[in-house]
Amino acid sequence: MKTIIANWKMRVGVRESVALARGTLLTVRGSKVIPEIVVCPPFVALGEVRKVVARSAASLGAQNMHSEDSGAFTGETSARMLTEVGVSHVIIGHSERRQVFGETDEMVNAKVRQALANQLIPILCVGETAEQRDADQARDVVRDQLGAALSDVRLRGGSKLLVAYEPLWAIGTGRSASLEEALAMHEYIHAVLNGVFPDAPKGQLDVLYGGSVTGENAYQFMREKLIGGVLVGGASVKLNQFREVVNAAIEVMEGLQE
Ligand code: PEP
Repeated sequence: MKTIIANWKMRVGVRESVALARGTLLTVRGSKVIPEIVVCPPFVALGEVRKVVARSAASLGAQNMHSEDSGAFTGETSARMLTEVGVSHVIIGHSERRQVFGETDEMVNAKVRQALANQLIPILCVGETAEQRDADQARDVVRDQLGAALSDVRLRGGSKLLVAYEPLWAIGTGRSASLEEALAMHEYIHAVLNGVFPDAPKGQLDVLYGGSVTGENAYQFMREKLIGGVLVGGASVKLNQFREVVNAAIEVMEGLQE
């Protein structure tokens, strides 16, 4: 199974989100094998998009959440509120949240634990800056982010965790990681995760690649066994591009069945 996360960010309103969700579902119509597609619209569109994806092959994701159950947190949304509107996945620790909104590793950790406690699947984003990669610190940065985010995290039977490796220099830049760079980091992340969760059964943990994924480069990433799928930003709001990403996943999955 390959997973595709569509992060629509703050790029589409409610009506556009509904149209995009309908178009996204059309990309898998008639297909025998269907990748796991998680659409992550802005909060205000979750309710309407839920109606479109209900009883479909796609799942509903949120782009963020708060770590507390409830309280005086103006403008925030809790995990329980997300599950109430049919959300199954939640992006946590996206670099834009960390950099623009000052999210710390501690906040990311609290959110991961809260998401799991509420039966949500966290999509935990990690990745280094260009400066850190140039200074040969990429692995250390990612290891530290994982260590902090997963501190005291328990994975119970039935729960699942997705990690998205998203080098910051590749997000929205049109310059994706090379396959070699992505593979080397995926191997490393899998090793770190094996250390943190030595007893995790197959399928409980998966690592995705994100950063300037397009219809042109999606296949090369997804055909790799180590890469469980992709997190797509810009190309997920362009249906012709996104269709190609989905088709790449379908092609890979059909190949796996042969
Ligand atoms: C992202 O924002 O997580 C992302 C991967 O964006 P893009 O695909 O546009 O690089």
